[in-house]
Amino acid sequence: MSLNLTQLIEQGVAGKRVLVRSDLNVPLEGTTITDDGRIRASVPTIKTLADAGAKVVVVAHLGRPKGEPDPAYSLAPVATRLGELLGAEVAFATDTVGDSARSVVDGLGDGQVALLENVRFNAGETSKDDIERATFAAELAALADAFVSDGFGVVHRKQASVYDVAKILPSAQGDLVATEIEVLKRLTETPERPYVVVLGGSKVSDKLGVIDNLLGKADKLLIGGGMVFTFLKAQGYEVGQSLLEEDQILTVLGYLERAEEIGVEILLPTDIVVADSFGDEASARVVPANAIPAESLGLDIGPESAQTYAAALEGAKTVFWNGPMGVFEQAAFAEGTRAVAQALTTVDGLSVVGGGDSAAAIRQLGFSDDQFGHISTGGGASLEYLEGKTLPGVAVLDETTVVGGLG
Ligand code: ADP
Ligand code: MG
Repeated sequence: MSLNLTQLIEQGVAGKRVLVRSDLNVPLEGTTITDDGRIRASVPTIKTLADAGAKVVVVAHLGRPKGEPDPAYSLAPVATRLGELLGAEVAFATDTVGDSARSVVDGLGDGQVALLENVRFNAGETSKDDIERATFAAELAALADAFVSDGFGVVHRKQASVYDVAKILPSAQGDLVATEIEVLKRLTETPERPYVVVLGGSKVSDKLGVIDNLLGKADKLLIGGGMVFTFLKAQGYEVGQSLLEEDQILTVLGYLERAEEIGVEILLPTDIVVADSFGDEASARVVPANAIPAESLGLDIGPESAQTYAAALEGAKTVFWNGPMGVFEQAAFAEGTRAVAQALTTVDGLSVVGGGDSAAAIRQLGFSDDQFGHISTGGGASLEYLEGKTLPGVAVLDETTVVGGLG
C-alpha cells in the first residue's frame, strides 16, 4: 500500500522540500486561462502541505511542447492563478531543474509554494528511453526531500515527473489522486444498481476498451457522440459523412452480441441531428438514425433519443458518463449533451463525469460542478482504470517506504 498525505505529514514535513506533481494542464487563450478547474482541484493537497510547514515545489506540464522551452506553453499564467486561489504568493521558476529552479527552491521559507516551469520543456520527461527519463527524474528529485503524486490526469503515463521520480524519493499519494481512485473503485468493484454508463465524444477507439470492461458490470450502456456511427454501421445502416472507424466494426458487433447474451442493454440513438458539413449550424436538421443522407454527417443525438436516454438514467444509483453526446461547442448540436447532463443532476446516488471535454461541456452549458457527484480531472487516466489497466503513476507508489522520517 502506498502512503497517503496524512501519513507523509506524520513523517514530519515541516521545513522539508516536498515536490508535488499536479495536473495544471488548463486551456489557455493567449495567456488567459479559460477554465481553471484543474488548478482548483490541485489546491487542497498543495495547501495541506504548506499548512504543515513544507516547502512546496509544484511540478506540472501544459500542453504538448516538443521537449524544449516554448513560451506559448509557459506555466507563468498558472502560477499567478494558483497564487490567487491559495491566497499566497507562488514563486515561479523560469526553468524546471536549472539555475532558476534551484534558486527559487533555495529561497522558499517553511509553508511557501513554488511552481517550476513546464516540465515538458525537458526532453527527459516524456522520453521512451528509461535511462534518459531516470536521469531527468534524478535532477527533479535533487530539488526535494519527498514526492507527492497528485496529478491524476497523468498517472497513466510512465513519465519522469510521474513515475521515475517516485522511485527515487519517499513518495505519497496526494488527496486528489486518492479521491479519484476511490471513486473509480466504486464504479468497478461494487457499483450500486442500477448502474448506467454513458459514452460519447470523438475518440472512438480509445473508449471501446471501456465498453469491453464495463459491459459485464453495467446494467445499461448509452451510446452517443462520434461512436454512434460505428455502432449504426455495424447494424447495417449508412452513416453518410459521419465519424466512422471501419476497422472497429467487428469489435462493436462483438459487443452488441455479448450484451445480448448477458442481458445488458446497449441503447443507440433512434434519431440524429445532421448537417451538410462539420459545424454548419444553419443546415442542422433531425433525421431517423436509419436514414442518414449520404451527403450529410451526424453531429448530435436527436431529441427523441435525448428523451430516451434521460428516461434510461431515471432511478439509476450509479452513473459514469464520459464524452459529449454531440458537438456541444455549437448550440445547434448541444441539446443531446444538455439532456444527459440534466438527467445526471437528478441521480440519487453516485454520478461521475469523466473526460476534459465532458467537464468543459457541463460548465459551458451552465451547470455547476456541485450538481454532480464527482467530476474527474483525468479523462485518459480514468478510462484506462476503467479498462482494467494498471496506472504506472499509482502502482509505483506502492514500492515506496519511509523509515524513520524524512531525510
Ligand atoms: P472527453 O474529453 O470528455 O473524453 P472526447 O475528447 O472523446 O471527450 O470528445 C469530445 C469531442 O467530441 C467534443 O469536442 C465534441 O465536439 C466531439 N464530438 C461529439 N460528438 C461528435 C460527433 N458526432 N462527430 C464529431 N465530433 C463529435
Ligand atoms: Mg477530450
